[in-house]
Amino acid sequence: MFKKVLIANRGEIAVRIIRACKELDMKAVAVYSEADKATLHVSMADEAYCIGPTAAKDSYLNVARLIAVALHAGADAIHPGYGFLSENADFAETCEDYGIAFIGPDAEAIRKMGDKAVAKETMRQAGVPVVPGTDGIIDRVEDALRMAAEIGYPVIVKATAGGGGKGMRVAQDEKQLAEVIQQARKEADAAFGNSGVYLEKYLEGPRHVEVQIMADQEGQVVYLGERDCSIQRRHQKLVEEAPSPAIDSELRERMGAAAVAAAKAVHYRGAGTVEFLLDRYGRFYFMEMNTRIQVEHPVTEMVTGIDLIKEQLTVAAGCPLSFRQEDIRINGWAMECRINAENPAQDFMPSPGKVTAYTPPGGFGVRVDSSVYAGCQITPFYDSMVAKLIVWGKDRQDAIRRMRRALDEFAIDGIKTTIPFHRQLMEHETFVSGDFDTKFLETYEILPD
Ligand code: ADP
Repeated sequence: MFKKVLIANRGEIAVRIIRACKELDMKAVAVYSEADKATLHVSMADEAYCIGPTAAKDSYLNVARLIAVALHAGADAIHPGYGFLSENADFAETCEDYGIAFIGPDAEAIRKMGDKAVAKETMRQAGVPVVPGTDGIIDRVEDALRMAAEIGYPVIVKATAGGGGKGMRVAQDEKQLAEVIQQARKEADAAFGNSGVYLEKYLEGPRHVEVQIMADQEGQVVYLGERDCSIQRRHQKLVEEAPSPAIDSELRERMGAAAVAAAKAVHYRGAGTVEFLLDRYGRFYFMEMNTRIQVEHPVTEMVTGIDLIKEQLTVAAGCPLSFRQEDIRINGWAMECRINAENPAQDFMPSPGKVTAYTPPGGFGVRVDSSVYAGCQITPFYDSMVAKLIVWGKDRQDAIRRMRRALDEFAIDGIKTTIPFHRQLMEHETFVSGDFDTKFLETYEILPD
């Protein structure tokens, strides 16, 4: 087992990882930027070190500083959380070079899955269904035009290095496509320093269904059911739930088997998520694999009873998985609302500031993963998500009722948050019916607070 784990992250996920470390009797080392001195993860950790100025590139992305702190503190492992360096293969390699365990897959698996075009090709070879499109990145516009004519419009052009919903553009016809490729290349170069783009069929109204997997170092891979993340705004998830209202146990098994095949194809270890698009005919297509823990992992924890972060820690320390496939049972329904410091009545404009009062909800089946406290400062420098409200219910209806009740209790004063948006959504007929797709929010009208 590890004795001391450095958490190379901030916010709610750093708090979440510290909690897991404590339950496993591991010491937790926090790091923070100058802007994050007075944050919860810093006060909760056993030790904390400032790693640089506010800008993420000088602090949370500063590999040399992180390694120096880990060595100084005597940490035997680094947990990268999500975002920041969590899917950086060079960082994973550097950790291992210094004898520090990187809590995640090896650098090669990260590299293969991190380049989306390479990942798709690897999956195709492993027999996992992929969205029809170009083999690898687009070299010549003529090839893209030919492919688009073959698969039919609309098509979507995506950055091979993309993430977070960035670097994607849809073309409705031949006329648009050449221009869209130019724009996407430029955007991808500016955002990711890699102008490689690829093309695939743009599915009309798919659902986003992703499968959680967990693998140990002996090559055992287990899937822990799916999450439905179809409630998205500009390709960014806002609400997630488990199980998916759109799939039955037969489809769950097939998607699970595809996710396990995907993981095995890259000799995966640790926690990972295989994302699929599901069309209305029950056909599913691999979209990408995230080689880290995800924001929405708690909904899986709530329906399986498995602590995914603790499992990440024990697996990285060399232990076998603590469960087998036949041990996994999906019990009831879980739902998560992302509470962002944004004003939904003003096009989700960021709303940083001081939290003057904070009363989180509680009671049976309610979980809040957050780093907020009364008097804390929400800075504009990082991710705007400040809390996750997760509920469990015996079925979907029960979970929705509990979510409404918990949202009503949740009071965050001093900043605007997405709570009013979630309250409206939980009453929306379409949402309540469970019959919606990733385009649902495009036509959804947000009422003023
Ligand atoms: P990112 O890595 O930036 O999150 P993804 O490839 O995971 O990007 O796609 C994010 C979202 O974009 C998906 O959940 C889906 O809503 C939409 N999307 C991506 N590819 C397609 C496609 N081929 N057809 C329709 N929608 C898509």
